[in-house]
Amino acid sequence: DKILLEVKNLKKYFPVKGVKGPGVQAVENVSLFIRKGETLGLVGESGCGKTTLGRTILQLHEPTSGEIIYDGKPIFQGQDPWTRDGEGKLVHRKVPKAKSANMLPYRRKMQIIFQDPSASLDPRMTVGEIIGEALDIHKLYSSKAERSDRIKELLRMVGLNTEHANRYPHEFSGGQQQRVGIARALAVKPEFIVCDEPISALDVSIQSQVVNMLEDMQEELGLTYLFIAHDLSVVRHISNRIGVMYLGSLVELAESYELNKHPLHPYTQTLLSAVPVPDPEVSRSRQRIVLEGDIPSPMNPPSGCRFHTRCPYATKACSESVPEFREVEPGHYAACHLLNK
Ligand code: SF4
Repeated sequence: DKILLEVKNLKKYFPVKGVKGPGVQAVENVSLFIRKGETLGLVGESGCGKTTLGRTILQLHEPTSGEIIYDGKPIFQGQDPWTRDGEGKLVHRKVPKAKSANMLPYRRKMQIIFQDPSASLDPRMTVGEIIGEALDIHKLYSSKAERSDRIKELLRMVGLNTEHANRYPHEFSGGQQQRVGIARALAVKPEFIVCDEPISALDVSIQSQVVNMLEDMQEELGLTYLFIAHDLSVVRHISNRIGVMYLGSLVELAESYELNKHPLHPYTQTLLSAVPVPDPEVSRSRQRIVLEGDIPSPMNPPSGCRFHTRCPYATKACSESVPEFREVEPGHYAACHLLNK
């Protein structure tokens, strides 16, 4: 299948005022691709960089370095200004200015659905104005009548009433607000949507409705999703493939079934051991593993494998060298020294 989006060695560091060095190393050398029409799930604990990765791919945050290729065209290319000295300390060097494509046409093709709809919808605008604004930015209509028809069509698509156009976000429930957020994303006829924990802020009772709606939209409109969640149980049913992040790094990526059945990376194994499995064969072979300690700070991540301070299998080599993220089995990628033997 055709690859729609590819990311190579993507990094996003946030400088911190008054602190020397790279600051928060939120996304570390992530490489992945997403096929046209698929859902790539992305999971990891809060603070693991999954939201930052989604936003950096859309260039809502300027990437620190790496490459982003959309539909065969490079939309970002930047050299890494950070190298390690003899002691392993990160030092900054001057690199040529990064090259970024004019993003306006891509802003239309690549959209985002935010986690918290109440915070992402302007409370002073009516629902019709919110959706209309997205149409205005990209001039997607030729007359006032067409604009208003399109707003009504979008409201119907997400299961809202056309009279809702004149109401304000606070008049809606959380689930309805998220439908407005989805209508706003769909307004510009995107191809690719980052769904950034779109159901985490919603009542459990309506989560599956919203997920089902996103799935229906995908089928109807041929959309491609990067679906971010902190919980594997949310993404395993809707994702074709799943990527797992830990402290800014992508540690494993595989077909959803394969990842659930044969997790290779110790961190994925601990995540999965926390998810109840209905399959008795799997649960018998899977013991619950509880991680010791807290997730380290991305301001000062551990050397080598970033998971080594909590990994039950860590050896000396793990703190010394960064394991390569590589294709261990066909289509199954992981970054762990144990898998290189
Ligand atoms: Fe654990 Fe070492 Fe593998 Fe990292 S490289 S996951 S520390 S065994």
